[in-house]
Amino acid sequence: MRATSLVKQMLGLRGVTVTEVLLGSGILVIKLRLTRSSLVCPKCSYVTRACYDTRTLDSRWRHLDMGAHQTWLSCQLRRLRCPTHGVITEAVPFARPVGESRFTRDFEHLVVWATAKMDKTTVTRLLRVAWRTVGTICERVVAEELNPNRLDDLFVVGVDEISFRKHHNYLTLVTNHDSGKIVYGAEGKKAKSLDEFFNDLGKERTANIKAATMDLGPAFAKAFREKAPNAQICLDPFHVVKVRHEAPCIPAVMKGHRLWDVAASQRS
Ligand SMILES: [Zn+2]
Repeated sequence: MRATSLVKQMLGLRGVTVTEVLLGSGILVIKLRLTRSSLVCPKCSYVTRACYDTRTLDSRWRHLDMGAHQTWLSCQLRRLRCPTHGVITEAVPFARPVGESRFTRDFEHLVVWATAKMDKTTVTRLLRVAWRTVGTICERVVAEELNPNRLDDLFVVGVDEISFRKHHNYLTLVTNHDSGKIVYGAEGKKAKSLDEFFNDLGKERTANIKAATMDLGPAFAKAFREKAPNAQICLDPFHVVKVRHEAPCIPAVMKGHRLWDVAASQRS
């Protein structure tokens, strides 16, 4: 098997042919050619066979490392005239439009996955990318992958805060208990941290929330009492057990509140 064929199989990318492989000190450059002859607009997928001009653009993208080598893909791209977006560089199947990102989608998804599993400093060292780049990639991927319907069919939600930077900063998160997925996040841990959540939700969907689990603090309860009066405010078991361990008697704040059994609600 030729080296280019072997590298093409290792890349696992569709729609490209490997034309050359260059190995430098710690850097692997893989030159590609698109297999399709037509040109595709990267913004609207408009397809044409007509090149706008004879100029080509040599573009590079950082891809998943191969062994100890940092891997870059290189490809000559043409330009087309899209009826909607004007003169634009053609799309590639493995990355976002030229000018938006210097990384392949596979690499960006790896960065996002790693960021969800480990701290940002570890991600920068492991994947050899700049601190700021990690944040930019996460913003880009989340904006694209975020489900626009995530706030539909919310009936039982959980709200809680998590801290970062050694308890100096907080994020308020709202979870859909039916799907187990986080549907909203905002900085802070006060009642106003939920303002945008209720704004995005709107009156009709807010009225559908029948229960909200939360800690024993007054902030989230205040927000739900004001904005979602139909929702039964429940204490989630984690905070109740935590308080019970720390205090020998049941605090007054717990009396009169319902406990929400998430597992039982999902079984029913
Ligand atoms: Zn277009």
